[in-house]
Order: sequence, then C-alpha cells, then structure tokens
Amino acid sequence: MRILLVEDNRRLSEAVQESLMKAGFEVDPVHDGDGALAAASGQQYDAVVLDLGLPDMDGIEVLKKLRARRDTVPVLILTARDALSDRVDGLNKGADDYLVKPFETEELVARLKAVLRRPARALDAVLTLNNLSFDTISREAVVGASRLGLSRRETDLLEQLIRASDKIVTKKAIESRLYSYEEKGSVNSVEVLVHRLRKKLLAQEAGIEIHTLRGIGYMMTGSKEC
Ligand code: CA
Repeated sequence: MRILLVEDNRRLSEAVQESLMKAGFEVDPVHDGDGALAAASGQQYDAVVLDLGLPDMDGIEVLKKLRARRDTVPVLILTARDALSDRVDGLNKGADDYLVKPFETEELVARLKAVLRRPARALDAVLTLNNLSFDTISREAVVGASRLGLSRRETDLLEQLIRASDKIVTKKAIESRLYSYEEKGSVNSVEVLVHRLRKKLLAQEAGIEIHTLRGIGYMMTGSKEC
C-alpha cells in the first residue's frame, strides 16, 4: 500500500511518515499542492493523506483538481479547522474521511486502514458493464437506446450488483438492502428477483451474467463473448 502524504509542516510530516511506515505503508511525502498533484499524476496511490493548509494552495483545491481529473484515490483530510462547515465542505468535495489536528498518529493509521477497506467509489454517476449502463441519479438502466423497465427492487438489486461487479454480494447483504424490517424478504424472493433481472438483461442482450454462488450470494460479470 502506497500513500501520498501531503503536509507542509515538516515535523508533523516526519512523525506521520514514521507511524505509517511502522504500520507497513510505503509513504511518499510532499509539502505543497503542486507537488501533490505532480506526484499523484505520476503514480497510482492507494490513498492520499492531505493537509488543508498548504503554502501554495488550499488542500481543498488539490482535492478538487484530483477529482476533476477523475482520480478516485481515497483522500483523508488533515485539518486544523474543526468548523463543521469545513468538514462538510471537504466531504462534499470528495474526501473520504478527515482528522482534526492535533490527532494521535494511531488514530490516523486506523482511519486510513478503514478508508482503504471501503470498496472503490465510483465517481461517475453512470456505471457501465458491457452493454449495460446504469444511471445512479435517474436510476435508469439502459442497453443501447432501450430502457430495461425494471421494478424498484430489481433496480436496487441491479445497482448493488453492478457496483460490486466481479465481486460476490452475499444474499444477506442483498436482503438487508432490499427489504425493510416490516417486509422481510424470504430467501426465495431474492432468488425470484435475480431470476427476473437475469431474464430482462438477457432479453436486451446486455452481455451481463449474474452468477449464483450457492449458499453464498451472487456476482455480476460481463459475458465473456462481449
Ligand atoms: Ca499546513
């Protein structure tokens, strides 16, 4: 795991670098916004630890520029500003977490590990797999120019599976997402839902397969021939 550490306070930078390295991370320290952007364009980092108060630009600018060039690298913000509006602003601009200074380096390591455990976040509002596109805002699934015409639950199921494409989604995770406590779904109904979704995808030649992993869950992949 390789981390880009953006912190202009040398002492803090060294202390953070040391604890991250002790925790088993590779660390590249840079001390300003331009350095951060240059480093991130030359190397795919697993995460960025980003100070907001940098000499050449605000850390939020760095974050905005990273996201503008569609870099989805997880970003953990370090800030001395503990005003709620600053934290909300950072998260809205695409940060994954933040720590308010002063902090314990142990906490930084723990937060960073938590950020790294999260599934990759899609920047795009539209998720695609083979011929299928799913717009996460309008919640429409289309193949070419045809809408799939999915029910609300089929749409939820599709979203859950396409977000985790090529990874297993457990039946339990599907159930807890699709059914509220009042309307607990039986194991059967998830199966029925998967069956219906498969049929609709097949009818439109979406080039999508939903694999059943018996007793575990489901996995969506693109068909091999597409
Ligand atoms: Ca600073």
